[in-house]
Amino acid sequence: MTGIPEDLAELVRVTRVIGADPSLVLGGGGNSSVKTTLTDITGEPMRVIYIKGSGHDMATITTAGFAPLRLDRLERLLPPVMVEDERLLDELRGALVDQSAPDPSVETLLHVALPDAAVVHSHADSLQGLGDTPDGSGRIRSLLGDLVVVVDYAMPGPDLTAACQAAWRARRGDEVGLVVVGHGLFTVGATPAEALERHLAVVARATAALPDPTNRATQPDQPDPTGPDPAELARFRKAVCAVAGRPLVMNRHTDETVRAFIADPELLAATARGPVTPDHATRTKPTPMTGRNDLDDYSSRYQAYVAENRVRRHQDVVAPDPAPRVVLDPDWGLLSLADTAPAAATVRDIYRHTMSVIRWATALGGYEPAGLAHTFDLEFWGFQQGKARRARPAGDLAGQVALVTGAASGIGRACAARLLAAGASVVGWDLSDKVETVFDDPGYLGLTVDITDPAAMRDALARQVDSFGGLDILVPAAGIFPVGADIADLDKTVWRKTMAVNVDAAMELYHLAHPLLAAAVPYGRVALIASKNALAPGPGAAAYSVSKAGVTQLTRVAALEWAADGIRVNMIHPDGVFDTGLWTSELLETRAAHYGMTVDAYKRRNLLHAEITSATVAEMVYAMCGPAFASTTGAQVPLDGGSDRII
Ligand code: ZN
Repeated sequence: MTGIPEDLAELVRVTRVIGADPSLVLGGGGNSSVKTTLTDITGEPMRVIYIKGSGHDMATITTAGFAPLRLDRLERLLPPVMVEDERLLDELRGALVDQSAPDPSVETLLHVALPDAAVVHSHADSLQGLGDTPDGSGRIRSLLGDLVVVVDYAMPGPDLTAACQAAWRARRGDEVGLVVVGHGLFTVGATPAEALERHLAVVARATAALPDPTNRATQPDQPDPTGPDPAELARFRKAVCAVAGRPLVMNRHTDETVRAFIADPELLAATARGPVTPDHATRTKPTPMTGRNDLDDYSSRYQAYVAENRVRRHQDVVAPDPAPRVVLDPDWGLLSLADTAPAAATVRDIYRHTMSVIRWATALGGYEPAGLAHTFDLEFWGFQQGKARRARPAGDLAGQVALVTGAASGIGRACAARLLAAGASVVGWDLSDKVETVFDDPGYLGLTVDITDPAAMRDALARQVDSFGGLDILVPAAGIFPVGADIADLDKTVWRKTMAVNVDAAMELYHLAHPLLAAAVPYGRVALIASKNALAPGPGAAAYSVSKAGVTQLTRVAALEWAADGIRVNMIHPDGVFDTGLWTSELLETRAAHYGMTVDAYKRRNLLHAEITSATVAEMVYAMCGPAFASTTGAQVPLDGGSDRII
């Protein structure tokens, strides 16, 4: 089996078209497949189905995102055989042709039950808007019955496969697909392109029948300039994280559409009726919390809902935390919470589309989610819970939010990279606009900020809180190293500039950051990048040495003042870090020659003969943010390979 079959290449293109439209699929939902024939290792033909891997994003999928499975084996698993939930993944994996392929979609058997070569599936908003209404299935039958078979909602798994198989067998013969009310649309074709064309035609007809087809979730706009107090938002996030039992990222979104929705009591009340489709509950919980003061009430209602359904159906489910994932507040707008920044963005997007669906359904007679009765079963389905567990990030700083200043290069960039690698969401500041693109990571936000401008810092902190919900870890790494000069020759402008950047800006930043650090999750941490010069000054470096001693003293005072808030404030004194913008290879060679040394020996001019890099410093910052420093504040750690002037 070599090369990529042409029909798989076409399937990838078709899948990306569906995935690129958020009104069709969001956050890993939807799927597609093609049935084809390969030649096996013995030279015999082998019928396979390529199906989208579970959790892969349709917008960016590649051939590696599809799993090839033996079709003859899967056909034997169709109803009347009922593959139980717990067995499903093992049975699907057992049919894989390529053991390194992703886990096949949970809807694989439904694709097998539809015998056409290509199947394309989406969760189109327009169909939810029509279906989540009184007599939604009658409405869809009368509107689309000449094009598609209509099936009432059933839980994904054996029930849905059986219902679709039976309905498909009983069809007239000219239908191009199947609508599962409250779930989505499956279209079929001889090729993926034909299935796509039919898919878009069905969706276009459904969309044209909506009361206000232009009522679509708009793209997120710029943050709200006259927004709420960031500290109040951060304290709210801390309270939600306490209920969740772990740190979560919180995104705030508000635009005209969101404001108008939340201001409408009828629409707001409709949100309590449940998710657009039960599948959304695994990310959004069955209902949002309305109003920011409802947290205790929300969590006790959620616990009651779990307890009640557990007795009725699932005695042994693992109860998730009772914290909301969506909050709708008249002043704050839409808040979404999740383990990572991209997951919080997905929750936000799902809810913005939910608002469109609720508006449509309300205009058509009322929002009545068609799959509502199955929400609990789906949220607590072992398969879904397993998927959620696998998707949870492994990094020990997951859900936490860091700010690193001077992040465009050198030590600051290395610190940001280390915190990102540990799972934190990171905001990077720098005077250089390179900071905006230095990381291509959905958990990173780079902002061009002049730290000598307090208003710019205040705006940037507000933006950080809107994006990620707070500030848990502060790493002041920005600083300048002025050209050396003896005191006798010192330029006072250089002196003042050095104090402004290295000391005054840190004081302003601490002043602004304190209320956020006091509301950090699980507790605030500061790791200052100071300098060996703070302890062992150098001749010709008066401005730098005094500024680093000053910021160290300032930070020691912060450790004293902020201990009552649980904030751990520690300092690092690096020396001889040569992989920064300051040191070119020419400068290194000149300095080494000045001491009659090789460059390597010059770099290791310390007691341990150790080479200190930006990454070494970043590793210490990471340690200071973790459990090893949980009981330490006010510590000054030299990172210099050992210096007899410091020891
Ligand atoms: Zn689906």
